[in-house]
Amino acid sequence: MTADFLADDAPLRDWDNDCLWHPFTPMSAWRTEQAPIIVRAAGFQLYDQDGRGYLDGISSLWCNVHGHTVSEIDQAIQAQLQKVAHSTLLGLASEPSIRLARALVDRAPQGLTRVFYSDSGATTVEVALKMAYQYHRQKPEGPEERDTFLCVGNAYHGDTLGTVSVGGIDLFHRVYRHLLFPTLTVPSPVALRIPEGHTRESWLQHCFDDVERTIQANHQRLAAVVMEPIVQGAAGILVHPPGYLKHIRELCTRYNVLLIADEVAVGFGRTGTLFACEREQVSPDLLCLAKGISGGYLPLGATLATERIFSAFLGDPWQGRTFFHGHTYTGNALGCAAGLASLQLFEQRHVLENVARCSQTISDKLRAIADHPHVAEIRQCGMMVGIELVRDRAPLTSFPVEFRLGHQVTLAARRRGVILRPLGDVVVLMPAPGMDVANVEILCDVAIESIEEVTSAARQRLSVPA
Ligand SMILES: *Cc1c(COP(=O)(O)O)cnc(C)c1O
Repeated sequence: MTADFLADDAPLRDWDNDCLWHPFTPMSAWRTEQAPIIVRAAGFQLYDQDGRGYLDGISSLWCNVHGHTVSEIDQAIQAQLQKVAHSTLLGLASEPSIRLARALVDRAPQGLTRVFYSDSGATTVEVALKMAYQYHRQKPEGPEERDTFLCVGNAYHGDTLGTVSVGGIDLFHRVYRHLLFPTLTVPSPVALRIPEGHTRESWLQHCFDDVERTIQANHQRLAAVVMEPIVQGAAGILVHPPGYLKHIRELCTRYNVLLIADEVAVGFGRTGTLFACEREQVSPDLLCLAKGISGGYLPLGATLATERIFSAFLGDPWQGRTFFHGHTYTGNALGCAAGLASLQLFEQRHVLENVARCSQTISDKLRAIADHPHVAEIRQCGMMVGIELVRDRAPLTSFPVEFRLGHQVTLAARRRGVILRPLGDVVVLMPAPGMDVANVEILCDVAIESIEEVTSAARQRLSVPA
């Protein structure tokens, strides 16, 4: 007998435990956690099958922009659905993908004139890496064999093998190290854990100098520098010091190395500007966009390229200069329709002004725990926030990993009706750029209460002899 998978009284909890394998999830612990099964949403609330509401404090893993069931986006998708849900971009063009490409080129940093679609963040970075690599072999000033990339320490660019190769998060990436292509890495310019012999200032200066030395010494073999501009998300919301992005842009220009900006997380308003590169008036050579591009509704990605790069792929078809890459759902019509509606809402609802207002609310609210004995650092850029929890602030000591402290905080927040997801012991707040001040305040209050509850329980646990 096969199950009636559409039955109203289907045992969803059992089927989830029996049939699913969740991403980035230790599955043996999953069963005991009774995660909410979301059946609908409205605005910034998610509702489970028992009708309980939860504030979406992480924008559904950093992609939601204006909230859920937003009538303008719903209607745009429905209108597109009446016409066609999907048709290919291989050999055919499609209306919504053309309109969205026009809109993106008009809004992106200067010089990015070509849009190559795919369907996730990882694919947009894969595309950029392959474009950069092939570009140097075909560029008009003469072919060059450039065989590697420069990455920033603790980078995260996705989970496919190419993007893992340019990533640097040991916990996620070390298992696959023999499968990866070699790259060069410079340290992430952040100053919480400073190597011995350095002050905060001397360490940051060292990071600026190191990237300069590395590019200078290796520019003939570097196809590109690939980086998350301004904020490294998955590394724990690491906010770069002002000028670092601009510094790298200048070095890339000087040494003729391409700059790939992965704005998958920081794009679409999260840092306060539509694109994070705008904060330092930087135009990358390749710009990777996903997550918020469809308002967080549908899987869509876009890699934007300059005309200089694009033109290196031109020539007679039989010359083999073509970019031989594509995904079946490239430029999906529903995703592009959602993306167009989302961009329109940015203007109609003054979303960037909302981000400025809510960022201020967040920093005012979180000041309450700035001196908390278990808060090492509160990092914030716009509506991206990381609160790093530690056992001791001086010297900086972590809680035992088996405490799963960040995870405990999300469970405590869930009991209070708020969804969070940590990065290790960093509590992440990532409200949608369109979230209203009242909900942002609730999010901050619940995060603070949950951190206080969990750290005081952890302190007790540590003081009781085993
Ligand atoms: C999430 C993320 C990705 C990967 O996007 P997927 O859609 O999950 O493949 C790539 N780069 C950055 C900076 C991200 O935050």
